Amino acid sequence: MAKITFLGTAGAVASAQRDNTSLLLADDSGEKFLIDCPGSPVRKLAKLGLDYREISNLILTHSHVDHIYGVPSLIHSQYRLGNRINIFATQKSLFLVRGLISFHGLEDTKKFPEISFHTIPADKNNFLFFQGEKTIISSFPVKHTPDSIGLKISFKDPALTCVYSGDTAFSQTVVEEAKNADYLIHDCACPSRFAEELEQMHTSALVLGEIAEEAKVKTLIPIHFLTEIDFKMEEIENEIRKNFSGNLMIPSDFDCLELKPQLS
Ligand SMILES: [Zn+2]
Ligand SMILES: [Zn+2]
Repeated sequence: MAKITFLGTAGAVASAQRDNTSLLLADDSGEKFLIDCPGSPVRKLAKLGLDYREISNLILTHSHVDHIYGVPSLIHSQYRLGNRINIFATQKSLFLVRGLISFHGLEDTKKFPEISFHTIPADKNNFLFFQGEKTIISSFPVKHTPDSIGLKISFKDPALTCVYSGDTAFSQTVVEEAKNADYLIHDCACPSRFAEELEQMHTSALVLGEIAEEAKVKTLIPIHFLTEIDFKMEEIENEIRKNFSGNLMIPSDFDCLELKPQLS
C-alpha cells in the first residue's frame, strides 16, 4: 500500500512541534519521493527507521527557501554511495538548487550522487513527469509564485488519486485537478481572521473548506500552518467544517498515512 509520511507541516517558520512542510511518498514498488526538502531529511527518516540512502527522487514544488534549503545536506549525506538522484522542479528551483550544489562543491560524482535534473514547466496543466510501475505524477500551476506547482499523484491497484497543492492561494486549477480526489493535501496557512494580507499567496482554513467542498474531495488534509501566528488547530478544524462535510485529517509531523480508496 502506498504511504505518505508528513516530515514537516509548518509554513516558513518551524516550531518545536512542526518543521517546514515536506512529505515522503512511498509506493508498493519501492519507489520513494521526497516532496520538498527543508531541514534535515536524513535525521527525519532516521527517526522513522527509514534509510536515507533509498531517497533517489526529489520533487521541489517551488523555489522558496523553506522548500529547498535541505537539498545540499541530503546530497552531502549520500557521500560515496555511488548512487543517482533525480530532481524534478521548475526552472527557477533548478537554477537555485544547481547553484547550491555547485557552491558547496557537491558536483564531483566520484564522491557524491550523480544528479539528473528534470525541468517541469511552471505554466502547463497535466504535465506528466513521472510514470512508474504503480504511480503516475503530473504537475499543474498554482497561485503562489510564478514558479509554483501542485502535484496530482495517481496510483494503480488500488486506483486512487492524491492531489498536493504545494503553497497556494485559492486557485480554480486546484479545484479542477482535485475533483473527486481521494485525498487533497492543501496549503492552510491560518484561520481567516489572520489571512487578509496572506491570501494573495496562501489559503485560510475558511476558504480551504470551500475549495474541498466544491471539488468534492473525499479526504482533506490541511498543511503548511503558520506557526508564528497564535491559533489553535480547533479553530482550523471549525473553520474548515463551516463548508466541508467530507473526511478531515489534520496531520502532525511524522504522521504516516496509508493511502486507500476513500468513501464519499
Ligand atoms: Zn512554504
Ligand atoms: Zn512558498
